[in-house]
Amino acid sequence: METIRRTKIVDLLKCRDFGTMVNVKGWVRTRRGSKQVNFIALNDGSTINNVQVVVDLANFDEELLKQITTGACISVNGELVESVGSGQAAEIQAREIEVLGTCDNTYPLQKKGHSMEFLREIAHLRPRTNTFGAVFRIRHNMAIAIHKFFHERGFFYFHTPLITASDCEGAGQMFQVTTMNLYDLKKDENGSIIYDNDFFGKQASLTVSGQLEGELAATALGAIYTFGPTFRAENSNTPRHLAEFWMIEPEVAFNDINDNMDLAEEFIKYCVQWALDNCYDDVKFLNDMFDKGLIERLQGVLKEEFVRLPYTEGVKILEDAVAKGHKFEFPVYWGVDLASEHERYLVEEHFKRPVILTDYPKEIKAFYMKQNEDGKTVRAMDVLFPKIGEIIGGSEREADYDKLLTRIQELNIPMKDMWWYLDTRKYGSCPHSGFGLGFERLLLFVTGMANIRDVIPFPRTPRNAEF
Ligand code: ATP
Ligand code: MN
Repeated sequence: METIRRTKIVDLLKCRDFGTMVNVKGWVRTRRGSKQVNFIALNDGSTINNVQVVVDLANFDEELLKQITTGACISVNGELVESVGSGQAAEIQAREIEVLGTCDNTYPLQKKGHSMEFLREIAHLRPRTNTFGAVFRIRHNMAIAIHKFFHERGFFYFHTPLITASDCEGAGQMFQVTTMNLYDLKKDENGSIIYDNDFFGKQASLTVSGQLEGELAATALGAIYTFGPTFRAENSNTPRHLAEFWMIEPEVAFNDINDNMDLAEEFIKYCVQWALDNCYDDVKFLNDMFDKGLIERLQGVLKEEFVRLPYTEGVKILEDAVAKGHKFEFPVYWGVDLASEHERYLVEEHFKRPVILTDYPKEIKAFYMKQNEDGKTVRAMDVLFPKIGEIIGGSEREADYDKLLTRIQELNIPMKDMWWYLDTRKYGSCPHSGFGLGFERLLLFVTGMANIRDVIPFPRTPRNAEF
């Protein structure tokens, strides 16, 4: 075959140099046609759109044609011509075809319309579907948007460790990291495992959040963000929880809770706008195939100012709803950790736009949040979104050494784990705030996918670590 430089399909479909010879490489999505002429829909992953390859059967060897099946990988040299029937402006009149990889009829993606559950079982192949191609292109673009947003605002990308010897949240179940022989664990007289000879000389785990180390950086570099894998061994099989997910955690010196809310709102809107501006074909595909309200919901979030409301008032609204006959699965009262159904009621039924709930009871929030004067609540903020519930959790941090220490002692958090964190409050303490955005929760919103397992390439959930 003649050597022609390959053009990606995304570029080819925009090209108007009709009459030139081009080369494309990709995977056959479908092949149809008559005895004289066949039409191959070819996709190379660079765009949701296929290029149509027109094949005059008389010009090609029958043995070669037999190998052009759904899923096969081919290289095509041909003339770029104006298209009338393919739904695109350009198509290719094939001159030479080479089969790079055949694909027999055991290929599971022969037909369209597989269930999401089935596609999860073949997660190694699902990127080849239109849906997952769209989702993973959007995922890439959102990662770029996030770095761009923070970089343009003078935030530094700071790498916090994935292996840690402290449990930031206290609540999150952690995965242990050890090189000890689990068949032969040394224990002391109380039955506790002795970690002295373990790799780190103490108990270590995978991180549930980079925040504590992020605070060390913010109180030195001013404004930082982290963006990395996060691990939680919570045994919650929900459509919104993964055991391994990616989190973005900005942390900013001198920001109070209001600055923090402004940042969160500006950040999410920037990301949503980015998706509409840079991934429109993919978003439109998902809108048309799965979720007819998707684009409208994305545009809605951009238009509206987020509601900002204290937890106490949010609970009143929910209690009123119950009094008027609304049924929730879980009870709602002051002090309760709101369930996703409560959060969604506030967002979807009551306000009909995103809500930032603030000033939660201190008992249901982490030790490091700034305590309010009322002695009962802390300066926490959760950003609640339609269809998802909590998308961001954050707070102004307690900057006062004594108050922080008291809280650490009340909660029996071992001081040996916390000395370095407390040093930020001992040496030049400053007001500061930050939050954590679950990357996959943002992707759920932007793609309209219903299950968090479908916005990460290889989901890790209880009893599932395949691929
Ligand atoms: P939730 O109440 O939904 O379990 P959380 O309060 O435990 O979340 P935070 O500790 O506040 O979550 O973490 C910050 C953000 O990280 C959350 O707002 C959410 O977007 C995301 N997140 C938390 N846990 C998970 C998880 N298991 N899988 C995916 N994203 C998560
Ligand atoms: Mn939270």
